[in-house]
Amino acid sequence: MSTSPSDSPAAGTVYLVGAGPGDPDLLTLKAHRLLSQCDALVYDSLVPRALLDLVPEGCERHFVGKRRGHHSVPQPSTNAVLVELASRHRLIVRLKGGDPFLFGRGGEEAAHLVRHGVPVEVVPGVTAGIAAPAYAGIPVTHRSAGSSVTFVTGHEEIDKGRPGVDWRGLARSSDGLVIYMGLHNLRRICAELLAGGLSAETPAAVVQQGTVVGQRLLLSTLAELADQAEQQGFASPAIVVVGQVVSQRVAACSPEPAAVEMPIPF
Ligand code: SAH
Repeated sequence: MSTSPSDSPAAGTVYLVGAGPGDPDLLTLKAHRLLSQCDALVYDSLVPRALLDLVPEGCERHFVGKRRGHHSVPQPSTNAVLVELASRHRLIVRLKGGDPFLFGRGGEEAAHLVRHGVPVEVVPGVTAGIAAPAYAGIPVTHRSAGSSVTFVTGHEEIDKGRPGVDWRGLARSSDGLVIYMGLHNLRRICAELLAGGLSAETPAAVVQQGTVVGQRLLLSTLAELADQAEQQGFASPAIVVVGQVVSQRVAACSPEPAAVEMPIPF
């Protein structure tokens, strides 16, 4: 465990902890230990509510996620909350869905804390991009069907200054794609992948609410995926998998999803 340097203004350490994809049984032992010892907890939308019961009584809790129909707490406010809590508490858990360093802004929060003299440590978690396909029986690599896999965000780049995802390039360079936050732009993403040279028959899947109650699977092809997802009412949170690995699905190995509700969808 990290200790505070003597010249640090912070009293405590912030742990950036991965909560896993939803099924509470997928929490790491380290995350479990830290949750059961923490003085303060900061969490957001995609964190299984069952995990909140693990914190000690009297633990100070802060929700910084998006509430239904509202915007998320802006990142600067979350950063400020973490620095402030570290001045008053010894052990602070910043709990994030899946893995904190995969599309979770964990890197930004870690850098901010370091800049403010706050000791910080990351605790990796099981990411939805592996766990949701796995709970549907889909391996994200396979010796004969996928030697490479790319984790990619389908979220439209709001910051126009930054280049978007090169979907056509990915179509040529990666055997499999695991797309986070991809439902909203699914039609455009599929069109780009087809334009990049992927066959219309490429197997593709959507796993909604992976590992928890309400888990749903759509098996399709790249050409049909967007239409079918729309017709069948697929919604966030969902992982999209594109590539031959989808045809290597072994349905019999799928675990029963956990009997817990997915927290507030966004
Ligand atoms: N850090 C997280 C990802 C955060 S981005 C991780 O490692 O898993 C949020 C996106 O993750 C969602 O829009 C969705 O695409 C995906 N996601 C998170 N939990 C999910 C779940 N249980 N089932 C399917 N997709 C999920």
